[in-house]
Amino acid sequence: MRYCKQICHRCGTEADSLRASWFNLHMLCQNCLTEEVAHPLYEQAKRAEFTKTQTGNYRFEGFGLPDDLQRKYYPN
Ligand SMILES: [Zn+2]
Repeated sequence: MRYCKQICHRCGTEADSLRASWFNLHMLCQNCLTEEVAHPLYEQAKRAEFTKTQTGNYRFEGFGLPDDLQRKYYPN
């Protein structure tokens, strides 16, 4: 195989490339990324990420997945 398919951490879909979530440490497919961008808390999560890099707090594990997405993907 010349390239490896990657698996989205959130929905489990195979994807050619994954991008980092703004909400947590997941690597996401394009669909999940688009869903995040459309989320009302997206801008807030981006600001939190900026604050992290400014303060050098690399133990920060992300803004946290919003409750509605949490329930959608992790109902238990
Ligand atoms: Zn996905």
